[in-house]
Amino acid sequence: MFFICGVNSGQKQLAHNQLVICNSCGAYGRYQVFMTYMCLSLFFIPVLKWGKRYFVKMSCCGTVYELNCETGRQIARGNQTDIRPDELTLVGAGKREQWQTMSGRRRICRNCGYETEEDFAYCPKCGDKLELRQD
Ligand SMILES: [Zn+2]
Ligand SMILES: [Zn+2]
Repeated sequence: MFFICGVNSGQKQLAHNQLVICNSCGAYGRYQVFMTYMCLSLFFIPVLKWGKRYFVKMSCCGTVYELNCETGRQIARGNQTDIRPDELTLVGAGKREQWQTMSGRRRICRNCGYETEEDFAYCPKCGDKLELRQD
């Protein structure tokens, strides 16, 4: 008889709702709590989980922190504990979406009137310099 077993790493998002002002980007963001673990499965059924670690990802800019284990366990059990900033260790800083989209900045050619949302420096029609349109 032989066993089909495998070791995988898994990730699970935990239910947690906490609105905070982000230390990283200064916007309002939510703590999204994740648990990562190693999992041993036997005949494709998970039998053992270990090496659980907890992470928090900011909804605003994607900055990732590792969360203190004890608080992570509380949240995994369904207790709505507030996460305090001193329970977080910065893992990787994220980037906030550019608040100004390209479509907000149109360029116009004073020579032929060509307008574009692309970041062209010169008019593709007549080759004149494009100017940023102010409206
Ligand atoms: Zn942020
Ligand atoms: Zn032009």
